[in-house]
Amino acid sequence: MAEQKPEDELRIGVYICHCGSNIAGVIDPAEVAEWATHLPGVVRATDTLYACADSGQTLIKEDIKKYNLNRVVVSACSVRMHETTFRAAVAEAGLNPFLMEMANIREQCTWAHGHDKEGALKKAKDLTASAIAKARFLNPLTMIKVPVTKRAMVIGGGVAGISAALDLADQGIETILVEKEPTIGGVMAQLNKTFPTMDCSI
Ligand code: SF4
Repeated sequence: MAEQKPEDELRIGVYICHCGSNIAGVIDPAEVAEWATHLPGVVRATDTLYACADSGQTLIKEDIKKYNLNRVVVSACSVRMHETTFRAAVAEAGLNPFLMEMANIREQCTWAHGHDKEGALKKAKDLTASAIAKARFLNPLTMIKVPVTKRAMVIGGGVAGISAALDLADQGIETILVEKEPTIGGVMAQLNKTFPTMDCSI
């Protein structure tokens, strides 16, 4: 299990994104940033207009050096959208990319709670505080490449299993389909008619 760094060793930078009106139209990012300033381990917290833009990334990279940050938290959109962006940005500034954590205050907050600005602000603070708390336990990681044998086994020769096996085979992966019964087809093979053509299932 990851170990929390001693408080005096933590230097967390926190960035609260406006994303135009996507976030700033519902909550005040500057208020969340000011609030985050007082959380344990945080040495720098600020709002930023577009965190993923060049200007936003440059701010983070410069702050890593200026404030000697060893953790970065970006409160913005989903990890699916920009986790790789911010990991790459912190790596360019010399920080291990896995010491960056994101809070999703857009899709999971301002987009979902636009009708309740007060509640959205509270949730944005909670999500940011959670990401900061998690950042305290992050450890630097190293990416490695390992050889993979391109061979797959699908267990169950019903319709789903057959489809999966065919998809894998179409991708050039040697595939073994395992079925405990003497025939494949599963429940589907037991039907004598299928809707809407009323054809035999096999
Ligand atoms: S980081 Fe995400 S939330 Fe911020 S401006 Fe870019 S897309 Fe919008």
